[in-house]
Amino acid sequence: MMKNEKLYNDAVKRLVGGVNSPIRATISPYPFFTDHAKGAYLWDVEGNRYCDYCLAYGPIILGHSEPAIVKAIRDQAEKGAVYGTPTPLEVRYAEKFCELAPNVEMIRTVNSGTEATMAALRLARAVTGRSTIAMLNGGYHGSHDGVLTKREDQCVVASSRGVTENQVRGTRMVGFNDAESLEDALKREDVAAFIVEPVMGNVGCVVPNDGYLNDARKICDETGTLFIIDETITGFRLSVGGAQEYYGVDADIVTYGKIAGGGLPIGVIGSSREIMENFTPVGNVYNAGTFSGNPLSMAAGLAALETLNSGAVLDKIHSRAEQLVRGVRDMLPSDSCVKSAPAMFQIYFGCEDVRNADDARRADKGRFMQFWRKMLDSGYFLPPSHFETNFLSACHDDGIVDSTLEAIGDALK
Ligand code: PMP
Repeated sequence: MMKNEKLYNDAVKRLVGGVNSPIRATISPYPFFTDHAKGAYLWDVEGNRYCDYCLAYGPIILGHSEPAIVKAIRDQAEKGAVYGTPTPLEVRYAEKFCELAPNVEMIRTVNSGTEATMAALRLARAVTGRSTIAMLNGGYHGSHDGVLTKREDQCVVASSRGVTENQVRGTRMVGFNDAESLEDALKREDVAAFIVEPVMGNVGCVVPNDGYLNDARKICDETGTLFIIDETITGFRLSVGGAQEYYGVDADIVTYGKIAGGGLPIGVIGSSREIMENFTPVGNVYNAGTFSGNPLSMAAGLAALETLNSGAVLDKIHSRAEQLVRGVRDMLPSDSCVKSAPAMFQIYFGCEDVRNADDARRADKGRFMQFWRKMLDSGYFLPPSHFETNFLSACHDDGIVDSTLEAIGDALK
């Protein structure tokens, strides 16, 4: 028996569906099991090498096993993994973060993007004294109850069993790039926060129309609603200052994850001192965690932030991503499109343009999965769904971009 198959058979006996996060089980008949990774590549347990455009769904922007990050983790591990006391590292991390992220005077670190949005929404409810939240149709902010809702036949419904009616009733859903639907959702002035993915990265890669985010900002101001920009994907990727800097828009509260931890678990909530000091222990919005601010994530995250802020690391990634996207656009059939933001892109088959989640849902899943399989067979690991996003890292050099374009050309035939 092949090793991947054997591992999968073992895995399903002890791990639900053989995995610890559902997207990983999407690959049929079974996923490959990664042995190690370096730079732009993953190697599975059978020794197959894959050029990686999934990059752990986003954190690995500097490439796998980036030397500065490996050193930071190793040095810290020798000094201990977690202490339950404050550390100098977390102070340095917070200072660097506030220097780079716009509109962030203070942060609280947690352990995932999920935890960050959960805490940010609680904070917004406390600050405004309102309980309802607004989010995007197709927006994803992690796996806590407060955001597990979706739109079905113009109604908000739970997107998971076990989510309470109260959560559903407390959520309004608006369309991306649709300021009118936002105005409508906020006009009663009873919404605590509008939480938005500035680039929708969980229905592929859907970018905001010119001015949309600033229109949303304005509508939030007019209705006393806090504007939360969820930078879990876009933070330190679209630019060092994230989507706020790239699109020139200001959030009241930002949430981060992925890149901010340099490949180790992290979530970050950032805002003004006035808003942040509502969190415990200064205020009474409860937030706590055994592993919050843990030295390993702080060390890896700080190394990532410092590397991204030095030289022209992001510029290089962006220009190679643009080159790749241009090449893809030239090769795609006329009924299909590629949508991109800096260092991320997705292809939609059977869709000439995609402006929101409903457009993305019209794309041809079957054609995408055929394309995806051909890419995997030729040694390129793309995220296994057209509702995910392809990412590029600093290790995706010109040679890799060229060979990827060749492989895409073959896969499209
Ligand atoms: N927000 C956004 C925009 C995300 O894309 C994700 C994860 N893909 C999350 C929040 C949740 O982050 P995590 O998986 O670290 O909990």
